Amino acid sequence: MNMKCPCGNEQDFKSCCELIHRDISKAETAEKLMRARYAAFAVGNIDFLYDTFHPTTRRLQHKKEIESWAKQNKWMQLEILNSTRSSVEFKAHYLDQNLDAQVHHEKSKFKQIQHIWYYVGMLIN
Ligand SMILES: [Zn+2]
Repeated sequence: MNMKCPCGNEQDFKSCCELIHRDISKAETAEKLMRARYAAFAVGNIDFLYDTFHPTTRRLQHKKEIESWAKQNKWMQLEILNSTRSSVEFKAHYLDQNLDAQVHHEKSKFKQIQHIWYYVGMLIN
């Protein structure tokens, strides 16, 4: 049985975000990286989440914190609201520890290093 990709594309995980989890250079756009990061929350791929931070903000991250945020919630659905070349606005729908429905709404900023996209953080307007 193939698993549908958690990012919401009508494709199997194997032929969608898992390809990017195996090779970050396969995310040709910021949105593809964003989708793969959401899928990484859903499947608990903490190394991928850590490694796809841009080096300027990666040094502020802790794998343990990423892991507890990923694992204490149940990731239900990703909704892309808008994306530009270097930003993605999305809503991540999840259930918290008490199984209450929550929405994380974020506009994310991405930057390339040698043609590879990295997640910088939230855009502050
Ligand atoms: Zn996907």
